[in-house]
Amino acid sequence: MNESQYKVIIIGGGVVGLAVALEITRRFPRQRLLVLEKEDHVARHQSGHNSGVIHSGVYYKPGSLKARLCVAGAAAMVEFCREQGIPHQVCGKVIVATNEDELPRLAELHSRGLANGLTGLRLIGKEELHEIEPHAAGIQALVVPSTGITDYAVVCEKYAELIRAAGGSVLTSTPAMAIQRSSSQIVVETPRGSFQGLSLINCAGLFSDRISRMAGDQPSAMIVPFRGEYYDIVPKRASLVRALIYPVPDPRFPFLGVHFTRRISGKVDAGPNAIFALAREGYRHTDINLRDLASALAFPGLWRMGQQHWRMGLGEWHRSLSKSAFVHALQGLLPEIQEKDLVPGGSGVRAQALKPDGTLVDDFQFVPSGNVLHILNVPSPAATASLMIARTIIETAAAGLGLA
Ligand SMILES: Cc1cc2nc3c(=O)[nH]c(=O)nc-3n(C[C@H](O)[C@H](O)[C@H](O)COP(=O)(O)OP(=O)(O)OC[C@H]3O[C@@H](n4cnc5c(N)ncnc54)[C@H](O)[C@@H]3O)c2cc1C
Repeated sequence: MNESQYKVIIIGGGVVGLAVALEITRRFPRQRLLVLEKEDHVARHQSGHNSGVIHSGVYYKPGSLKARLCVAGAAAMVEFCREQGIPHQVCGKVIVATNEDELPRLAELHSRGLANGLTGLRLIGKEELHEIEPHAAGIQALVVPSTGITDYAVVCEKYAELIRAAGGSVLTSTPAMAIQRSSSQIVVETPRGSFQGLSLINCAGLFSDRISRMAGDQPSAMIVPFRGEYYDIVPKRASLVRALIYPVPDPRFPFLGVHFTRRISGKVDAGPNAIFALAREGYRHTDINLRDLASALAFPGLWRMGQQHWRMGLGEWHRSLSKSAFVHALQGLLPEIQEKDLVPGGSGVRAQALKPDGTLVDDFQFVPSGNVLHILNVPSPAATASLMIARTIIETAAAGLGLA
């Protein structure tokens, strides 16, 4: 093999692409491996703009990939952070029902958690909630002790360091611009020249459907960007939240509802909401990308989703544009929180696959196509589950990718 020839090329230096690369270096230490990342650093998009929660797996449908890989992935993530000296904490969380209507859904979450094999779950009343989170309001809550927090940008840095130490290459500032493909060879064109691989893994997050098309495949869903915006609680009011306070989520959506998160840095934030972003990397209202917008508007699934969920969408936009509306929503969980306690925080953009019929793809989706594997839907809890996603992909796809 010459310098630009690799056994496997991975597009995307986020937590998923890097975890997959790390798994390959561990299982197949002698194979030449290349990760291509378009930004000047790893984890510049979803993996560096998230809530930093090590999810327990309580929410997901029993038997789904999300459920299985999150529960095992959370344990693997805690172990990885411990081994590598990455700051983390298993602080637990409470999911709080604030009215009678939410009680059946809270009970359903409890059952799901038990079915997914979580231990230590407890339904508690007002008094015990007050002992755990003295400022939270609710009539009942589910205690989830295995939830934790970390910083996934730091996790990604460590993944990249370990990949390089094992002889793999992680090239930043190297966007994949075109792909030529035959049954035995893949050529990826970049501004730094072309790289040849025997196989390709597409972990391009917000652009995974476009990379799939670049590789000559037709993805069955389109990636739609949903921005999540945060407010930070000012330091002198951060004591209102001890750990993590979540609402009971609306089961029609894959998002968890705005919540309070104590970060591993000690900072506390509120969010993220979920609004349709006008650019795939649209971190602010003013970020508009005409290509992204035109392709989304030309996709029938977007209009169908709009018809089904316009009321919810308008509510999210209203809370995004009006701080008082956002704070009002938060006061359901934390009545003492006031507008003056919050300052604008960061934002992240979720890559969510949407089907032509307007339904959001709920589970993780890995789509093999000959010597190419497309990772097409890995929204939350994929950062938590990254090590197990990688293990599963390599176990099931190693032969197809010519690794085994
Ligand atoms: C607001 C928010 C909160 C979240 N909270 C949590 C949480 O608390 N816990 C949790 O487990 N998960 C959470 N998630 C989900 C989690 O962050 C994602 O599931 C995960 O980061 C997805 O990783 P990824 O590698 O697929 O994507 P990304 O991190 O987006 O990586 C994809 C990479 O591909 C690169 N790329 C794209 N196109 C090209 C190209 N042509 N050439 C080269 N490189 C390219 C991009 O630059 C990017 O770095 C959250 C997500 C968001 C947005």
